[in-house]
Order: sequence, then C-alpha cells, then structure tokens
Amino acid sequence: SSPDPTDSSLTPMMSHYLVVKQQNPDCLLFYRMGDFYEMFFADAELAARALDITLTKRGKYQDQDIPMAGVPVHAAEAYLSRLIRQGIRVAVAEQMEDPAEAKKRGGKSMVRRDVVRILTPGTLTEDTLLDARRHNWLAAITETGGHMALAALDLSTGQVQAAPVRQGGLAAALQRLEPSEILVPERLLQLEHLFEIFADWKAQLTPLPTVRFDPDNAKKRLEQVYGVGTLDGFGAFSRAEISATGTLIDYVDLTQRGKLPRLSPPVRLGESGILEIDAATARSLELTRTLSGERKGSLLACIDRTVTGGGARLLHGWLVAPLTDMAAIRRRQDMLAFFADRSTVRAGVRERLKAAPDLERPLSRLALGRGGPRDLAAIRDGLAAAADLRLVLTAPDLKPLPDDLATTLDALRPETGLIDRLKRALAEELPLMARDGGFIAKDYAVELDHQLSLRDDARRHIAALQARYVNETNISTLKIKHNNIIGYYIEVTAQHADKLGEPFIHRQTLAGAARFTTVELAELESEVSKARDRALAMELKLFEDLVGEVMARAEVVVEAARALATLDVVAALADLAIDCNYARPIVSEDRAFEIVGGRHPVVEAMLPEGPSAFVANGCTLSDGQLWLLTGPNMAGKSTYLRQNALIVLLAQMGSFVPAVSAKVGIVDRLFSRVGAADDLARGRSTFMVEMVETAAILNNATDRSLVILDEIGRGTATFDGLSIAWAAVEHLVGVNRCRSLFATHYHELTALQGRHETIACHSMRVKEWQGNVVFLHEVASGAADRSYGIHVARLAGLPAAAITRAEEVLALLETGEQSSALTRLADDLPLFAAVVQRTSVATPAVQDKLRDALAEIDPDALTPRDALEALYRLKSLN
Ligand code: ADP
Repeated sequence: SSPDPTDSSLTPMMSHYLVVKQQNPDCLLFYRMGDFYEMFFADAELAARALDITLTKRGKYQDQDIPMAGVPVHAAEAYLSRLIRQGIRVAVAEQMEDPAEAKKRGGKSMVRRDVVRILTPGTLTEDTLLDARRHNWLAAITETGGHMALAALDLSTGQVQAAPVRQGGLAAALQRLEPSEILVPERLLQLEHLFEIFADWKAQLTPLPTVRFDPDNAKKRLEQVYGVGTLDGFGAFSRAEISATGTLIDYVDLTQRGKLPRLSPPVRLGESGILEIDAATARSLELTRTLSGERKGSLLACIDRTVTGGGARLLHGWLVAPLTDMAAIRRRQDMLAFFADRSTVRAGVRERLKAAPDLERPLSRLALGRGGPRDLAAIRDGLAAAADLRLVLTAPDLKPLPDDLATTLDALRPETGLIDRLKRALAEELPLMARDGGFIAKDYAVELDHQLSLRDDARRHIAALQARYVNETNISTLKIKHNNIIGYYIEVTAQHADKLGEPFIHRQTLAGAARFTTVELAELESEVSKARDRALAMELKLFEDLVGEVMARAEVVVEAARALATLDVVAALADLAIDCNYARPIVSEDRAFEIVGGRHPVVEAMLPEGPSAFVANGCTLSDGQLWLLTGPNMAGKSTYLRQNALIVLLAQMGSFVPAVSAKVGIVDRLFSRVGAADDLARGRSTFMVEMVETAAILNNATDRSLVILDEIGRGTATFDGLSIAWAAVEHLVGVNRCRSLFATHYHELTALQGRHETIACHSMRVKEWQGNVVFLHEVASGAADRSYGIHVARLAGLPAAAITRAEEVLALLETGEQSSALTRLADDLPLFAAVVQRTSVATPAVQDKLRDALAEIDPDALTPRDALEALYRLKSLN
C-alpha cells in the first residue's frame, strides 16, 4: 500500500511530497529540492531502474528506510528524455519561492512547491526532447452519434487540425500523423472492430474517461481559447471533431497547468482533396519508415533535402497527404520549377534558410512561459532571414513569380521594428534561462548598466582586498573565494589559521583549510549582491517586455515560419529534381498513366554501383489497363511495381518524378499489396492478411484508383491461390476498372490477356550468360519464359534425370488443362496418384453421412477446440 501522508512520523516535507504524489498517481514525481529533483519510495526505485542512477535513502517511514533517488536540475532534460522514451510520464514539482522567503515566514516554514507541468510524449516543447525535423502530434480520437473524428495538436508549434474519420479509415489517418500520444475515450477501447488498430498504437495510447470528451464542454472550451462566439468561422466542424479538438486543448491545459501556447485556428482536413493511402499501403511502400521501422531507407529520407526543421516537418506533411486537386498540384509544381530553373537563386535561398533558426518552437516556448533568451534570439534571426529572403526573391529580374511563391513571399513580412529591438536588446552570448541573467546587451537599458557597474566595482574592490590581505598577513596563499551557500569568504590553509586575528572573523574550519570574513568584505559583498539582484530583476522585467512584444506579433511570426518552411520544401525538391534527374510530370484530370523511363527513387539511390546502374522502365496503364507482370524472383518485379506507385505519389504531392517523362491522371486512392509483410505478431496468418488487404482493394478501388498487387494467392496451395488471383484480375478489370499492376508467379494468368483487351502481359527479362543467370531488370512485353526455373535448377546442379523429367512435366502442363494434365501425370507418378486417388475413394453412403455432418457445422459458432473436434468427427466418418 502507498505511504500515508498524514502519518505523524513523517517530516512536513515528506508528507507534502506524498500529498503531491497522491494527486499525480500515474506520473513519476520530480520533486525539486535545491539543485536536485528528488524521488522517493516506489518512484525512486522506478527511476533508479529506468535511469541507472543510484538508489539512496532519506529518513524513515514505519521504521523502514525511505528509498530516494535524484537527478541534478541542470542535467534534468537528458533524464526526462530517457523517461519519456520509456513511456513514463513525469510530473515536475518546482519550488515556487526562494528559500529565503520561506525563512522570512518564520519558524519551520517550508518552501512552497507545486506541480508546474506534466510531461507526456505528446506535450513536449524542449528542443532536447524533440526531433527538430518531425512534428510531435498529440492526437485525440472520438466518436459521437456514430461519427468518428481525429484531431491533432502540436504543442511545440501551435498547429491544430481535425478531420472526420470514415469507417475503416482510422488506421490510415493514424499512419499519416504518426502521433506521439493518442487520447482515446475508454469506451472506444472496448469496441472490437478497433482492437487491432489500438494494438498497433498501444505504446502511444492514453485512455481517458469518456466524459472528458463531452462535445458541449469541448465547444465552450474552443470558443474560449480562440476568443470567438462561434466556431463556424473555422469551417464546418462536426460534433465529433469539436469534441476531439476540445479534448486536446483540455488535456494540454491540464498537463501545462493552465498555460496554453499560442494555438493556430484548427485546420479542417476533409477526406476529399487528399490522395488516400491506407495504412497497409503506406507501410508497404515504406513512405516514412522501412518495413523494419527505420527512417533511413524510407522514401522520405531519400527525398528530404530540406535544411530547416520547419521545412522537414512540412515535407513530411506533403508526403503523407498528396493532393488530388489538379490546380493545387500545378501551383506547387510552378514553385518547384521556378527554383529548378534558377540554380544560383536556389543555392542562395538554401544557404540563407540553412542559417535561419526554427521560429515556431521558440515561439511556443515563449508563449508557455518556458522560453529563454536564446528563443528570443531565434525569433530575431528567423525574422531577419525572412526579411532577407523576401528581398532576394522580389528582385525585379525574377518577375513574374509563380502565384504561390508570390503569396508565400507576402507572408514574409519585414518586421524591422521587432528585429531591431531584439538586436539592440540581446547580448552576444546568451544563457539558456532568463533567470541566469546577463543576456541584455550593454547600452540597452541605462539603469541596468548602472547597477551592473556598481556590481563590477564592488567585485573589483573585493579582488583588490585579496591583494591587500595577502600583504598585511604575509600569507601568500590567502584567497578570497565565493560559493552559493556562504557567499564570499577568505580562505587560508589550516597551518595559517591561527595567525589570523583582527579584523578576521572565523566562519568555518574544514579539513586542511579555514574560512574567515571581515566587516569590509561583508559590506562589499552586500553591495555586490544588492546590485546583482536589482540587475537581475531589471533583466527579468526587460525579458518579459521583449516576450510581450514578440507575442504581440505572434501571428506574423507564425506566418513567416510557415512561409520559410514552404520555401525550404520547394527549393529542396527542386534541388533533388535537378540533382537526380527528375522530370516535371503532367498531371491531368483524365485517367492517363504514361511513364517513360521511370525509376525507383530509393533503390536507384542505394545501388552500390551508383544511380546510373538502375535500369529505367516505362509503364502505360491509361484508362484502366492492367499489366500482368511475370518473371522470376529477384528480377526486379516489386521494385518496378513500387516505383510506379511512388511516381504517382510524388507527382501528386507536387514534386517532380524519377522518370524521363510522366503523364499521371489524378489518382484518388492508391492501393498496394506488395511483399508478404508477415503479421504473425497479430496472430493472423500471412495468407489471411493478404486476403483482408485484397478484399479492401477489390471493395474500394474506383476507376480513378491505382492498384499494385504482388503475388496474390501465394500463401496457399496452388489451385485455390491461382483461382483467387484469376478472379482478382477479372474483378479489377471488369468491376473496379482501375489502373493496375499485377505481378504473379501464376503463369496461367497470362491466358487472360486474350480475353480482355485491357489486360497486357509483361515480364522481367533475364538471360543466361556463361553459365550464370543475369537479371536485366528490364520490363519487356509478353509473358516470361516459363522454363526459366528449370534453367536455374540446372545451374544449381540438379541431376540430369530430374531436369529431363521436369522438362517433360512442364511440357505436359503447358499443353492444356491443368487438372487433366495432372491426372495423366498421376498415372505414372506416385506423388500425384496419391492426391488424385484420395479424392475419388469416398463411397456414396459415406459421402452422405459426411454431407449431413458438414451441414450441421456452423463455422462462425465454433471455438478452435470445437473445430478440432469436428474435424476428428468428420475424419472418423470417412
Ligand atoms: P523481385 O520482386 O522480382 O524478387 P526486387 O524488385 O526485389 O525483385 O529486386 C531485387 C533487386 O534487384 C533489388 O534489390 C535491386 O537491387 C535490383 N533491381 C531491381 N530493379 C532494378 C532496376 N530496374 N535496375 C537495377 N537494379 C534493380
């Protein structure tokens, strides 16, 4: 049981600690004591384990030592980041007053301490706890009246967004955001159809009581935060969206103890306007992470040449939500083309951006009262860079600018007043925290300079005093020193201690040294500390004023930040396009799909021989064609499939594409089932996963979709696998009528080519050369040579007799119907004989009993054990 704070044997401090701990039961409590954050009892044990720090003890509770562990305040962020990464939430209790003030209250008065903040993965603002190049989304999911919504808030940048979530669309929406923390009503955790999604995001979930999601409270909350009478001005938000957004703000308010950052109005992301990519597709295309979970090797890592944190965050946003609006895509392309065509301008812009600090995160910290002088400097330098970039890009010879670029530049308003003020106010070297002082430049505030000169004079006098005392006492090792506990003191080694009489007053004896003071020193010290305190108070006041001035211009700062991010993204994509030979795709509203000389952006960049070793391949799927692709393993099928999907994605995010040329009619949804991503962790067989994903495709692909399928049906025995693949192809062509690429091992499927004019067969070319198989990575029209496997077998050294037999079997199979061929083969082949015979031994009587028994079985109602028993029963009837 947890210790009782009212236990009279506890010290007042320990009992206060326990009270605070009781108020924050789900957090590790960092309890500030001087220069340390201390933890006690179970928290101490947990922290010692999680942080590898020493467990000590302090005092007793019920005759037992109280375990204690602590981390120094100056190193706290490093420890916090380790705790957060381990999924441990931390409540930070600070000393709310100077210990001197508590003393003034008299008696044994304790320093007041309060929780100032709760750190959770989704509510971080410190640069050391964040990845500068990624958003840190706090998300909330709700359901109201049968409608689901997902809202997200990045406390570190003040961005807020909300979107409705379609039935079955939750996984994709979460995949897009990759939130660090997800608030969910406990009620939703009970819903069976969401189990799997929540299992995937288990580490990020923060369940909250369902009442916390009340839409009416949420609405009031939002109106209050944004200072509006009604939310209508922001767009048509559903009750579910309002509930999710309001809950986010509530949670921030709670964890930040009443401090809210500057929040941008919520952006409503509709489900239209965005190329839909379901979660499985995003995973299999390795958009932001590889299948093994790493960022390196993902498409994002490959195309990301941004030079600012804001740019990197925006690029991520563009990549996971490509557009479907042709005009919007073309406007982005125009910006890219502008920079692609002007290498000097591009280099100049990127150079300036590289030197521009992040604006959004410092602004958020300042708004939360957690900022420091360096954050002010970041605002100063960021705004200066913005003004400079605007100047560069509005040069007359660059006119006319593309529309969106002109709009972007408009947002880079030259805030000369604020920049100048910050330039004058801030010193060269800046401390992290305002309370450390010394960050205001000389000549900025007369009164401050005066106090500082008083302080320095007194310090000089103290230094002079040391020389005089050395002289007077003849002790050359006499030193005047300073520490935070006793202030200034005179120190001599123990052997000299007795020599000091008047005016020296003894203060402390240590091993090997003795400490003294004098009236004169005490007076000078008090002058120093008075001047210093007054100076610090003035600096803190000036700091608040400067923060106030920045916050008054917050809107402009945010707009500038977003504009800088846009510039960074388009200049970076242009750089990529030029460097890697990308072409501007022609996007259209029809169902075109003509890629000439297409490449896989990631594979080409990773080839050990260099990108020029990549074999480019075209693809034409206009108006709903389906290409059947055959070829052996390792020939490059999945690379080819993926590259066409990635080209579409890049094209619709506004980027240029790795191809000689590309025509892409806008795709509404992208589906990909490539490679057997084993899902055993979820307890589903590969085949089941494959079928679930295939079902999603056949049920949802429209005539505007692009479908990429790799080896459907491989997870099962040949015949049913083939039949499923066959039916899937027919469905895609006949019902979905989407543009599709279908890679398969089932050579039989090539027979479909003759039956549907929209189906065309292609294959990966390979050849034998000097006894080796050479993959040409070239897509050629026509089906693959099916005897290929036998070549490989021969090369591998299979006995000649076996090879000959294999060739016979193949020839037979190729002559016609599979089943009749098998029967014929079975006549002289024991293996097949067994198969064929077993299907024909059942006598009619047995068959009837079997039928009856079968009819009685309701598969949906069976437990696994029932099913096994039923199987034994059926077997015994045979
Ligand atoms: P498959 O899906 O047919 O088994 P992959 O697409 O995985 O084959 O390709 C196997 C390897 O071949 C890739 O890792 C890559 O190194 C190389 N490769 C694939 N396509 C090309 C290409 N077009 N040009 C050069 N190398 C390629």
